[in-house]
Amino acid sequence: MKLSDDTYYEQEANQAFFSVSQYKDFCKCEAMALAKIHGEYEQPTTKAMLIGILCDRWFEGTLDKLREESPNIFYCRNGALRAEFRKADDIIKRVQKDERFMQYMSGEKQKILTFEMFGAPWKMKMDSFVEGICITDLKVVQNFKNLAFWRYDLQGAVYQAGVEACGYGRLPFYLAAATKEAVTNFDIFQIDHPILDMALREIEGNMPRFIAVKSGLEEPHYCGVCDYCKSVKKAELRWYSELLEG
Ligand SMILES: [Zn+2]
Repeated sequence: MKLSDDTYYEQEANQAFFSVSQYKDFCKCEAMALAKIHGEYEQPTTKAMLIGILCDRWFEGTLDKLREESPNIFYCRNGALRAEFRKADDIIKRVQKDERFMQYMSGEKQKILTFEMFGAPWKMKMDSFVEGICITDLKVVQNFKNLAFWRYDLQGAVYQAGVEACGYGRLPFYLAAATKEAVTNFDIFQIDHPILDMALREIEGNMPRFIAVKSGLEEPHYCGVCDYCKSVKKAELRWYSELLEG
């Protein structure tokens, strides 16, 4: 299956390929990951995700296309950006004045690669790819402390391995991070190689199980606490005292 901008996020593509976000879904809850793949569950889009999309699109130079595709989500009837998304506008205005930030984001945008890794086909889409130089992913986060929480090392590990598997060599992985704080903070973070290598080993260790679950050979585990699990659960008879143990 050959992927394009139009087909990248389609169900068929998610069935055919693993991706970083699908891998993370499997880590969180196998049943939820599988339901998403089968189109039985869709995670609600959050405001944070939409702000990320807006910033990605600005860097890609496709804001106008976005306006046509989804006129009511981001823009008011008079064409102005909705109040809740003005933060994205502030962030863009701030970082575009910074030479280093823009340099790291100056590569080929939203480049799609597909490759084989750990016995499965993978897909990935890079925010900025400078051949022979580096891979950069744009992250709009609440603050820098949150950056490590989201395990971007997993993304860096897959992207680095994918770029290498496609014959571009081993390139450094950077996060071009900007915060949604009242005054935007921003920097370029390099995820160092030992951390990426460790993340890749972690992925390698989990893949046999995830491949087996995705292909239906093994039954998915239900985490029991995520929104998907709650949406398909049956009532249990429980002890009140469980709640007190907290
Ligand atoms: Zn779950």
